[in-house]
Amino acid sequence: MKTIPFFDIVMMPGVSYVFPDTFFPKLQGWEPKVGETMAFLMMKRKKEFGEITLGDLYPVGCIGTVQSIDETSKAVTVAIEKRMITDTIDILEDGEIELTCSDYPDIMDETAEETEKRLQALKQRLYSFVQPYQWGVVARNFIRGWKSMEQMVVSLANQMDLSVEERYALLETASVAKRHTLMEEAVLAMIEAVKVVEEVSDQQQEEQKKQMREMAIKKQMQILQKELDEMHPETINDARRFEMKIEEAGMNPEAKREALKVLNRLKQEGENGHEYGMLYDYLEFVTSLSWKKEEMPPVDLEKAEQILEAEHYGLKKVKERIIQQLAVMALNKKQSGSILLFAGAPGTGKTSIGKSIADALGRKYARVSLGGIRDEAEIRGHRRTYIGAMPGRIMEGIRRSGSSNPVIVLDEVDKLVFDHGGDPASALLEVLDPEQNSTFVDHYMNVPYDLSDVLFICTANYVDDIPEPLYNRMEVINFQGYTESEKVQIAKRHLLPKAMEQTGLKKGQLKISDKVLHMIISGYTAEAGVRGLRKQLDAICRKTAVQILKQSGKNISVSAKNLTQFLDEPPIRPEIATRKKKPGVVTGLAWTQAGGAILFIESLLVAGEGKTTVTGQLGDVMKESVQIAISMVRSLFPKEAELLKENDLHLHIPEGAVPKDGPSAGITMTTALASLLTNKPVSPEFAMTGEISLQGNVMPIGGLPEKLMAAVRSGVKTVLIPKENERNLKDVAEEIKDQLQIIPVETVQEVLKITGIL
Ligand code: ADP
Repeated sequence: MKTIPFFDIVMMPGVSYVFPDTFFPKLQGWEPKVGETMAFLMMKRKKEFGEITLGDLYPVGCIGTVQSIDETSKAVTVAIEKRMITDTIDILEDGEIELTCSDYPDIMDETAEETEKRLQALKQRLYSFVQPYQWGVVARNFIRGWKSMEQMVVSLANQMDLSVEERYALLETASVAKRHTLMEEAVLAMIEAVKVVEEVSDQQQEEQKKQMREMAIKKQMQILQKELDEMHPETINDARRFEMKIEEAGMNPEAKREALKVLNRLKQEGENGHEYGMLYDYLEFVTSLSWKKEEMPPVDLEKAEQILEAEHYGLKKVKERIIQQLAVMALNKKQSGSILLFAGAPGTGKTSIGKSIADALGRKYARVSLGGIRDEAEIRGHRRTYIGAMPGRIMEGIRRSGSSNPVIVLDEVDKLVFDHGGDPASALLEVLDPEQNSTFVDHYMNVPYDLSDVLFICTANYVDDIPEPLYNRMEVINFQGYTESEKVQIAKRHLLPKAMEQTGLKKGQLKISDKVLHMIISGYTAEAGVRGLRKQLDAICRKTAVQILKQSGKNISVSAKNLTQFLDEPPIRPEIATRKKKPGVVTGLAWTQAGGAILFIESLLVAGEGKTTVTGQLGDVMKESVQIAISMVRSLFPKEAELLKENDLHLHIPEGAVPKDGPSAGITMTTALASLLTNKPVSPEFAMTGEISLQGNVMPIGGLPEKLMAAVRSGVKTVLIPKENERNLKDVAEEIKDQLQIIPVETVQEVLKITGIL
């Protein structure tokens, strides 16, 4: 007899099973024949047919016969009776199992009526279970067809979640009553399981429906509320207004969450609550920021060039560098790029060209002044727990600009102050660092804001005062200041028309010739930029306005003769002209906050015992320069230097020069001392700049263009510069070079010869 091991069917005597032909090859080539008897045996663990061991087999199984084989080679077999394996069992080579079994009869402890009752009761449960379903009718017919509990359980076996042990238990249980109870339990458990699954999915659906409904209602409410608001705008209260603004602002999720939190507190607080004002200010601030990502209008370089040209005269190099930056940004499709640092004296156009860049890019503009900031919180904001907390200046600037990608000019980064109030420079670094600034958190706002699309431009008068890490992030563009004729052009094209417009003067009502403009510039201003010039022109316009009204509209012309009537102050004489030639005094050139400047180094011998006193500007560099100068003079003029033994030397270096640079006054001091000791005066129209080494070599200096401009402004005629700085002359305007005799020098001896001391 063939033995077929099963593991996943419920086997019951009296029930027929259909085996597809694909099943047979697994049984070592067995081909079923109609009428053949075989044993079904259930397997315990392994599912593979080929590797059965005797321990895998459960002892109770069924014998059955092949009843028919249809055209698709399906064998219909019927289980007939249960058997129990009792004896020697062996697995033969061809895979057949040889075994001895005994009968395994049912214990008939239930009457046929009782069984029928159970069957009908179960069928009823199943009818009502299938009824709500569309397929219920088909299922009903199917249920009706079951003649025994066994048949029912075998049919439902696939739907019931029974383990191999549970299936075997159904077969092994000899007591009919017990078996039928097991069967009942299995069927009822199946019905319950299906119900639970359905209930859960019903609940989920219910939940979803609720959410959808809630959303729909909210939306509807918003629409209706909006309509109401439009009908009665006077009834919109603060909370409602903020609610609408928050909805529309396009904030990032964090910001929106925080804003709604504050809004809730505002509602709870009520208008008379003492925190109301603070909460109101916060909401007002965050909702007036622009949160939406702004598209950058395409950069039109030609137009940008035109705008820069139209709004600022000169500044050729600066404009070139700006256009390069715009081109790089356009190519990279980025709204920001390297951080530009505009360095130069006041009034040289640094801030105003920032505005022109914004115009050229079609973007908004804001100026943030950093001068005198000593507290980190001024940059990054105060935490809201402080009374009177405010956002930092950066975010305030963003708000003023009204956009998320403005051009922001950070004015006077060299004027940040460092003391106990944290480190404003490192806060600023965070603002400028493209790695960090997309999630910049202002303490007041307490949520991140994306600054990565902001184009930052910094300005400074003197770059050496900028903290190193900050300076390293920037690309410096120098604004050298303007020559006199450039200033005339700026006055004519920009400053005067603007001043006239502001005072309400019409074109033609005021005329100022170029000659007079030159007089104003050289006689009334002494600056690298044009701020003073603008003030003078404003003053002329105001006086003109009065005169026009008094003289019933007669046009005014300012001439060399009547200029003094228009300007309050007397003209300033060039500094050099006020100076007399005197031994011990020499003109130097310095690079200062205001661009370039001249200064006079003065020395004096007073009766004493060989002491040296130095007053005025005294950086470390300067002290060393003084020592070198004294040694130099001693070695060059040993005889005259005897004077230093019986006299005290007093050297005065005026303030105003930048300490780090020193006024680059090594040669100036040496010349002053040499002049003093030899009693040979040097003309004040002779200016010089350069450090010296102990060997007497003249060393290079910085800021040559600025210094030469200052020399011209102050009336200097001849300038001695270090030979190594000759190459910087290409950066100096021709107009300046034309007005000066520039003599490059290499050694102190040369300097002394040129000045007539040696
Ligand atoms: P800074 O920021 O360097 O101190 P500003 O930009 O404030 O200087 O300039 C001061 C004034 O001078 C502004 O009114 C500006 O328009 C004007 N100005 C400066 N340079 C030029 C220039 N090259 N052409 C036209 N106007 C200029």
